[in-house]
Amino acid sequence: MPKYWHEDIETMSREDMKKLQNERLVKQVHHVYEHVPYYRDLMDKKGIKPDDIQSVDDLHKLPFLSKADLRDAYPFGLLAVPLSECVRIQSTSGTTGKRVVAFYTQADIELWEDCCARAIIAAGGDKDDVCQVAYGYGLFTGGAGLHGGSHKVGCLTLPMSSGNTERQIQFMCDLGSTILCCTPSYAAYIGETLHDMGLTPDDIKLKAGIFGAEPWTEEMRRTIEKSLGIKAYDIFGLTEISGPGVSFECEEQSGMHINEDLFLPEIIDPETGEVLPEGTVGELVFTALTKEAFPLLRYRTRDLCVLSRKKCSCGRTLIKMAKPMGRSDDMLIIRGVNVFPSQIETVLIEQGYTPNYLIEVDRKNNTDTLDISVELTPEQFSDKIKDVQNMEKSLAAAIKTMLGINPKVHLVSPKTITRSEGKAVRVIDRRKLHE
Ligand code: ADP
Ligand code: ZN
Repeated sequence: MPKYWHEDIETMSREDMKKLQNERLVKQVHHVYEHVPYYRDLMDKKGIKPDDIQSVDDLHKLPFLSKADLRDAYPFGLLAVPLSECVRIQSTSGTTGKRVVAFYTQADIELWEDCCARAIIAAGGDKDDVCQVAYGYGLFTGGAGLHGGSHKVGCLTLPMSSGNTERQIQFMCDLGSTILCCTPSYAAYIGETLHDMGLTPDDIKLKAGIFGAEPWTEEMRRTIEKSLGIKAYDIFGLTEISGPGVSFECEEQSGMHINEDLFLPEIIDPETGEVLPEGTVGELVFTALTKEAFPLLRYRTRDLCVLSRKKCSCGRTLIKMAKPMGRSDDMLIIRGVNVFPSQIETVLIEQGYTPNYLIEVDRKNNTDTLDISVELTPEQFSDKIKDVQNMEKSLAAAIKTMLGINPKVHLVSPKTITRSEGKAVRVIDRRKLHE
């Protein structure tokens, strides 16, 4: 079984990788400056010329790009090749506002699919595997990316797309799927449905899952691994930079290796824009080193995480990023306290609840309110009402210990919270709706 997809790159020495990044960066800055007037203007305003960038050490001189720039330049303003050279567009899921579109040449697609192939191999996949792709197909990058990677590896690919969960399980049983690719929230739903259908992990052949496109906790990972009888691997990416496979997890399951030969990462202070040293939490910024059609330089992802060059037991030397704890714009400020939905998820699962929950924030009489509806399992539900009230109290207390603020917890009947087939919507902030 192959251990790596691109062994030379994935295990490259630090010196060689830096050399490769330097060469690619210098070339890419020229490409962008010459072909993207929007970015050329930003560089000119800062008084930076392409020749000022001689190596990765000069990266900090370049201007940032943000989602606002992508919207300003929509749809063609950041394109760096003639449209006739492009073979595909994909679009973001629009989780945080208007969609943005990204363009790809055939070479861009090849490299993106290679990234997904690296991820599949790192999850223990090879050509004998049956890979069920249950990410959405279409404009969303999840389906297309893993589909392409699965083909490259030579897996038998099941292009299921998301939805029709019983059929997913039927195919899984009939065709012996060994790898499942989808969002973690959909994986949890598939696991739940498997059990509802009277099946156990022994009835399926799945061994691994490649789950990403949304934040998920370690507790959620364990829940999914147990319900499907698999090892669950994280995968990260964003449309603006290509799609899934910007980084991927290996067997060590302790952070994701960034494909840094293609995507140069930095961590910055989200307030000041200053580059932070390795090991500090901050906003992740990527520079696409090889992309032809849509080559973003210093793109601010708004994802908060931390980078590490600690030696990995898998043998890969690619830098690792921790699980993003959420986006800076996912963070809720409730009564002045910073709250990430993932913190709430951690407590719920630790306390024996399922990851089916909904967080609702509102403002009443000038005070923020935090209501958390949490679904009971059928076993928990059969308990007496009196117990339910006690359970609500003790769960609220556990959440208060984590967050420092008091929520109102509502335990609700089994199967009353909408399941997600793609990216889960777990927060409704009504304060924004009022504004
Ligand atoms: P949108 O911005 O509309 O959601 P995308 O579909 O391109 O567009 O999603 C990219 C974003 O999804 C990332 O910036 C990140 O916030 C989130 N994401 C992707 N993979 C992961 C992951 N493994 N863990 C946490 N968040 C992730
Ligand atoms: Zn590793």
